[in-house]
Amino acid sequence: MGEALQLENDKQLLKQYYAGQQIASPNGGFLMLLGVRATEAGAVAIFECSVSSLRYEALIPKATRSERKKVKEILDAGRDPDCPRHGLGTRLVRAGRDLVCRSCGIAYAKA
Ligand SMILES: [Zn+2]
Repeated sequence: MGEALQLENDKQLLKQYYAGQQIASPNGGFLMLLGVRATEAGAVAIFECSVSSLRYEALIPKATRSERKKVKEILDAGRDPDCPRHGLGTRLVRAGRDLVCRSCGIAYAKA
C-alpha cells in the first residue's frame, strides 16, 4: 500500500462513516473504504478517492469509558452487543481476547 494522506475534519467525516453515508472526497467524487486497521490509539480507516485514486486515512478514536460501560451492560444482561457507534445491526465480533466492530476496528470489550 502506498502512502496515505491524512483527512481533515475527522469528526464530521467519522459521523458520516458510522452512519454508513457516502463521504465526499477532497478531490471531488467520494471516498471508498479500502479497509480498517487497528492501532495503539484506536484504528485507522483507509479510503481511496473515486476520482483521483489518492489514498486517504482517518483516525478512529478508541472506545470511550461510556462506550465500554454500555457494551459491558449488554454483555452482563446476556445479550449480543452491537457497535455503539455503528448502531443496531452491526454486531461486535470476537477477535482474540477482544470484542471488536469490524466496521470501525475498535475493541469495545473483553470477550
Ligand atoms: Zn463500529
